[in-house]
Amino acid sequence: KSSLVWFRRDLRAYDHAALHHALSSSAQVYCVFVYDSAILAPLPRADRRVNFIHASIAALDAELREMGGALLVRHADAVDAIPALAAELGVDAVFANRDYEPGAIARDADVAARLQAAGRAFHDFKDQVIFEKDEVLTLSAQPFSVFTPYKNAWLKRLAAHPASLAPYEIAPWASRLAAPLAHAPLPTLAELGFDEADPQVATGMAGAAAMFDGFLERIEQYATARDFPAVHGTSGLSVHLRFGTISIRHLVRTVQAMLGYGGGGSGAPVWLSELIWREFYAMILYRHPHVGERSFKPAYDAIEWESGPEADELFAAWCEGRTGYPLVDAAMAQINQTGFMHNRLRMVTASFLVKDLGIDWRWGERYFALKLIDYDMASNTGGWQWAASTGCDAQPYFRIFNPVTQSERFDPEGEFIRQYIPQLASMGRKQIHAPWLHERKGAARDYPAPIVAHDEARKKTLLRFDVLKAPV
Ligand code: FAD
Repeated sequence: KSSLVWFRRDLRAYDHAALHHALSSSAQVYCVFVYDSAILAPLPRADRRVNFIHASIAALDAELREMGGALLVRHADAVDAIPALAAELGVDAVFANRDYEPGAIARDADVAARLQAAGRAFHDFKDQVIFEKDEVLTLSAQPFSVFTPYKNAWLKRLAAHPASLAPYEIAPWASRLAAPLAHAPLPTLAELGFDEADPQVATGMAGAAAMFDGFLERIEQYATARDFPAVHGTSGLSVHLRFGTISIRHLVRTVQAMLGYGGGGSGAPVWLSELIWREFYAMILYRHPHVGERSFKPAYDAIEWESGPEADELFAAWCEGRTGYPLVDAAMAQINQTGFMHNRLRMVTASFLVKDLGIDWRWGERYFALKLIDYDMASNTGGWQWAASTGCDAQPYFRIFNPVTQSERFDPEGEFIRQYIPQLASMGRKQIHAPWLHERKGAARDYPAPIVAHDEARKKTLLRFDVLKAPV
C-alpha cells in the first residue's frame, strides 16, 4: 500500500498525526504541499504569510529529505491537484490533518469525493487542537458558549485522557518515506508570483522551537507582563500555531510538566488558558460556522453600523493609524509595519473601531485578515466578536474601553507609542496619551486631532446597542 500525506497548516515533520498514520499503515509514503491558487490569487504581491510559508516549506522539505523523503510542491487549485497527484503516484489513500474552517471543510469534502470516485480513500485526523468538535461538552451534552466552564471541562477531559498529549511518532517508520525520482526544485517566490516581504519572525520548525525555548525563560512573568505591549511578555507563537510549525501537544505537555513540579510560576496556568481560548474559538467556529459572517447572537445582527463616505473616511483613518489617539495609532502602525499586533492592542483597536467609530466589526475583521501573519479565522472572528459584544462570552456592550485610560494603564511610559509614532517622541510620559490636551513641540504639533470625541462616541454607542432592548 502507498499513500500521500497532504500538508496544510501543519508544516512540521514531527508529532504529526496524518504523517504518523500514513507511515504506520503504508509501505510507501509521499508528501505534498499545495500553494492553493484559490487562496493565493487575491493576495497582494508582498505578503508576509506567503514568505513565512515559503521559508517553512523549505525547512520541511529539508527535514523530510534528511529522513529519506522529500516534499512535492504544487501551485494549483488543491481540489484538482490532490486527486490528480494521487492518480499520478498511484497511491491508495490521501492522509491529512483536519481543518475546521467552513471553506476548508467544503474543500476537503470535494477532494474526498473525487478521490473516492477514483477508488481512493481520504483519511483525516485531529492534530491542530487537543480537543475538537464535540469532545468537550456540557453535562447535558451541549456545546459550551462560555469560556470558563469550557476550560474547566477541557482540563477535566485532559486529566481523564492524558494520552491526548502523546506525540505521534514518525521515526520508527521514516524509511517508508518516498522520494519521487523526478523531483522538481521547490518553486521560488517569484515563480509563485510574490515578492520578498520579511515575515519579521523566525520561520519553520527550528524558528518555532527557538522561540518557545526563549519564552520558557520568561513564562513565570507571563501573567503580568502579557498585558504591556512595550514588554516582550508573550510567546509570539501564534504564527507557528497557525501554520503548525510547532505542535500544540508539545506545548501543552511542556506546560503540564511544569505545573506538575510547581514550575512556571503564575504564568504557566495563564498561558495554558490562552491555548485553551484558541481551542474554544476553534470549537465555536466549527459548531457555529456563521460566526465568520454574522453575529454569534442573532439579535445583534439588528445593530445598525455607520456607513457612507464619512464612515469610509473614519475607517481609512483607523487603518492608517491617524485617529489622533496615540495608542490606537501606534497599534495600527505595528500591524501595518510588522504583520503582528499585541493582544491588548487588538482589543483596544477593535473596541475603538466598533464602539468609538460605530463601524461594523466585519470591516475590522477583514482588515486584520489581510494584515495579520497569524491570521486565523476562528481566533480573529472570536476576538472581533468579543470586542464588538456580538460574540459568545463577549465583552458586555456597555463596557467600552477608553483609549486614553487604556494607554495610561498599559503603556504607562509611552514607550510603545514612541516606538511606533516617533513624531510623538518629545512628549512626556503623562502627556503622550492625549496630546491634544497639552502644549506640543516640533513634529508633535502635526499629530492629528482626535477624529471623534470618546465621550460622545460612547453615548452614541450605547444608543446604537439599544436596539437589543427592543421587544422581539
Ligand atoms: P501568547 O500570549 O503567547 O498566547 C499563546 C497562544 O495562545 C497564542 O499564540 C494563541 O495561539 C493563543 N491565544 C492567546 N490569546 C488568544 C485569544 N484571545 N484567542 C485565541 N487564542 C489565543 N489570534 C490568532 O492566532 N489569530 C488571529 O487572527 C487573532 N485575531 C485576534 C483579533 C482580535 C480582535 C483579538 C482581540 C484577538 C485576536 N487573536 C488572534 C488572539 C491573540 O491576540 C493572539 O493569539 C496573540 O496576540 C498572539 O500573540 P502570542 O502568540 O504572543 O500570544
